[in-house]
Amino acid sequence: MLSVQEIERLSEEFEAKTPQEIIQWAVDTFWPEIAMSSSFQTQSMPLMNMVMRIKRGIPVFFLDTGYHFWETLMFREKIASEWKFNVIDLYRDSRWDVFAKQNVRSLPLEDPNLCCYLHKVQPMQKALKDIKAWISGIRRDQTTVRAQARILELQENGLLKINPLLNWTKGDIKKYAEENSLPSHPLYEKGYKSVGCAPCTIAIGVNDDERAGRWAGRGKVECGLHTEMFRKKEIADLKQEFRMDIK
Ligand code: SF4
Repeated sequence: MLSVQEIERLSEEFEAKTPQEIIQWAVDTFWPEIAMSSSFQTQSMPLMNMVMRIKRGIPVFFLDTGYHFWETLMFREKIASEWKFNVIDLYRDSRWDVFAKQNVRSLPLEDPNLCCYLHKVQPMQKALKDIKAWISGIRRDQTTVRAQARILELQENGLLKINPLLNWTKGDIKKYAEENSLPSHPLYEKGYKSVGCAPCTIAIGVNDDERAGRWAGRGKVECGLHTEMFRKKEIADLKQEFRMDIK
């Protein structure tokens, strides 16, 4: 078990390391209690490719929200089978089924925070309960929230979040993808530079920020996985962030 001071020291040291060196350290330190998450987008491919080369058996958590484009689901199938990844689909807890079905159309539009909480935050919290380290693909150049992240982040429950690509830019991702002939999400060429759930994603212009098409015009930039929301375990602590009244 690493101390808080060791984690801070390593995180600082890793600012000068390559993503591959950080992933190798993570695997050497935590295997088999380690997993990664992926949304199977074009910009997810470099991290997945690096992980595949270092430790193919790492579980890859995919949040199957039920709102994905069919292109995302097909792309997920293709990569999982061609790269022989151990992809684990995560679903919302069944106790929300009646509520979610009753509000299937309105939920993402009227209360995206609650929708992301039920379909992403809660299932990921549950999946990560039994492991010690979680590799995520966030980058500092993606959003102002992500700009504040650290390469190693210790969560309150003892889980270590590892962000090996934090210092990479959009350009680094593109270069790695080209050099390694990585596949693209089918919607990428149609202007969807960051692909999330269908009700919350639009195509963007060539000069727009990569994530400008996510929750456009709704004052939301993160699904909650990389924010304070993720650290709060009790739904009662989050109610002020939701518009809909839930029991
Ligand atoms: S991205 Fe949209 S549809 Fe997907 S879980 Fe969040 S609010 Fe719901």
